[in-house]
Amino acid sequence: GLSISPLKRINKTINSYAQAKNQEIETLKKNAEFRKDFIADISHELKTPIFAALGYIHTLLDGAVEDKSVRLKFLKRAAKSLNALDKLVHDLLTLNQMESGVVKFNFEVFDMKELLHEVIEELEQKANKRDVLIRYFYDKEKEFMTKADKDKIFRVCQNLIYNAIKYNNDGGEVEVNLKAHKNHISVEVKDNGKGIPPEDIKRIFERFYRVEKSRNREAGGTGLGLAIVKHILEGHKSKISVSSTVGKGSLFSFDLPLEKVEG
Ligand code: ADP
Repeated sequence: GLSISPLKRINKTINSYAQAKNQEIETLKKNAEFRKDFIADISHELKTPIFAALGYIHTLLDGAVEDKSVRLKFLKRAAKSLNALDKLVHDLLTLNQMESGVVKFNFEVFDMKELLHEVIEELEQKANKRDVLIRYFYDKEKEFMTKADKDKIFRVCQNLIYNAIKYNNDGGEVEVNLKAHKNHISVEVKDNGKGIPPEDIKRIFERFYRVEKSRNREAGGTGLGLAIVKHILEGHKSKISVSSTVGKGSLFSFDLPLEKVEG
């Protein structure tokens, strides 16, 4: 058949060009919006520990410094706030690097069952403080070698298990299950704590999203942990699954490839 007329062709080109431009503008607008929200969120989150620390310091300067017991208490609290600030800035940098894609993943073969032992050992003290028991299960007959970024997966496990402790009740339990399947291994972190309401579940991976805002900030969280976890797992072409029941507890899990070892 005949080709379309030159005029129609030009029109078509102009239209698709305009469409592409519109899309570009929409993306730019969205990015600007995102940045604005992000900066507003960050400013708010930074202010909280800064104002707390300043409050204690000003009270000391206004005379409380004369009282020895108050002096120590307020200095400790100011230090605690500044520690939280430090952690927040560190997590922000990590998340920013992840979101801008400059983070390199260093894949290596390692034993997942050992890594989980290390993470649990590190968190044992925090669990003891709240009288929370961590139980760890895996089949001793099986292999759990995987190929992944070890440090980043350490961070993922640390975050999930620490959350399971933080959002548990005193005297609660955390169960870590490592399972081997035909081609992958799975890590499950289960707690019998507070649980997460269904409407919050899909939002907990957003930066600064907390189910109970002030209480969970008080718990020492930055609200960035799960956002970082999600990015790390994306870098492994994996993702996190959650199921939770309010008042009963939560289950977080993810998969990694099983690395077959010779012999
Ligand atoms: P945070 O640093 O505040 O712990 P996260 O990104 O790790 O931030 O988690 C986001 C929010 O998801 C938490 O503030 C908490 O409300 C909720 N959450 C995460 N893990 C659990 C859990 N195991 N049980 C109940 N709530 C949880």
